[in-house]
Amino acid sequence: MDAQDSAWEQGSAVRVVAPVQPRKLAKVPFVELADGRLQGVVSSGSDIDRVYVSSIAAGSHGYHCSTNNNRPCGGLRGSPCKHLQALVDEAVLQYGVDRVARYLHVDVEEDSPDVLGRLHGEHEPVPAAIVFSRFLRHLAYLELPDTTGPIPELHWFPAGGVVR
Ligand SMILES: [Zn+2]
Repeated sequence: MDAQDSAWEQGSAVRVVAPVQPRKLAKVPFVELADGRLQGVVSSGSDIDRVYVSSIAAGSHGYHCSTNNNRPCGGLRGSPCKHLQALVDEAVLQYGVDRVARYLHVDVEEDSPDVLGRLHGEHEPVPAAIVFSRFLRHLAYLELPDTTGPIPELHWFPAGGVVR
């Protein structure tokens, strides 16, 4: 476990944010604002077995997209690819445009909240494993068998309901 993960893992309660609007999980199964990035996992439009790991750094807006095996995304040609577009779209559904824009340090106009169009970063490779391991851990919790007994791994799950 590295230092970056520890704050996230050692807390006894994680703030769970209900989506502002319902999301399609099949397209973007994982999206989060964490570690100074908007990052997530985006399904390939053409190959059901392939996923892309996409991320945008807060502040610098450096962006990256690759497969989970670190193969660079072919759609990155000097500008964000469709996976990054999907990631931003889903983040806006999940967190609301204000929160996404604030996190990334983007000024959006209220009447045309185009987060992607406001980014000024360049392509900056990030190892996919950093994001993908968080996704796999996230999935591991979903795959725990149904039980009515206490699950130690879920002790952090807030009993008080969703934080809005
Ligand atoms: Zn891509």
